[in-house]
Amino acid sequence: MKKLVVLTGAGISAESGIRTFRDSDGLWHDHDIMEVASPEGWRRDPELVLGFYNQRRRDLCEAKPNTAHLALARAEDTLNVHIITQNIDDLHERAGSTKVLHLHGELTKARSTADPSLVYGIEGTELSWGDHCELGSQLRPHIVWFGEAVPAMPEAAEIAQSADVFAVVGSSLVVYPAAALVQYVPYGVPILVVDPKDVAVPSWREITFIRENASTGVPKMLEAIRKLG
Ligand code: NAD
Repeated sequence: MKKLVVLTGAGISAESGIRTFRDSDGLWHDHDIMEVASPEGWRRDPELVLGFYNQRRRDLCEAKPNTAHLALARAEDTLNVHIITQNIDDLHERAGSTKVLHLHGELTKARSTADPSLVYGIEGTELSWGDHCELGSQLRPHIVWFGEAVPAMPEAAEIAQSADVFAVVGSSLVVYPAAALVQYVPYGVPILVVDPKDVAVPSWREITFIRENASTGVPKMLEAIRKLG
């Protein structure tokens, strides 16, 4: 089967009611992003950060995968689909996709502040000050914040390097190192982009743009990939 690698960003979940932050002037649900998504923000006010992600988890409970997530899951019938997502939601998994790599962590998990290898599922939506790992240290959201390393990047680069077709859906490609993944796609491999707005793709690559929302653009993208043979 042909290997389709899809890099997804916040835009694919927008039609499920989960807000992107770049589309709202750098504010994410009325918070300065650096207050709630940086190690400095966590040091300054951990309870604000925990409360912010608790609310995002409650929002996620209300959200459902949309046509774009579902179409990518169904595409596994005919393509070897690998999803690399910048999203912290679990809508790809809930749609039925089986190979999903989260670059920026997962909202539904917590990890130890003493040992990052200790990762736990969160029961329900709340993570609180005083919730400890088995070593007795505070738990934090299992999210890659601005300024932190992206541990899944080497695996993501390897996946991108082995693509037969590469697609970007709902990502502005301005958040690094995720945006650099396009550069790992070998020459000659077709690249398709689904986004209603301009995306920061390398100008030296030939790229097929589908300038639509994900719910209509992803089915069209899959149709275009089928026609590639
Ligand atoms: P981003 O940089 O990936 O940009 C969002 C892109 O989505 C833009 O290019 C925009 O034009 C496009 N878009 C908006 N609506 C769309 C639609 N209906 N269909 C297709 N494309 C659409 O994402 P960001 O918001 O700048 O977030 C960057 C980081 O913040 C993410 O990588 C993630 O770690 C975190 N984040 C995650 C979520 C989530 O998990 N759903 C939501 C917001 C932010």
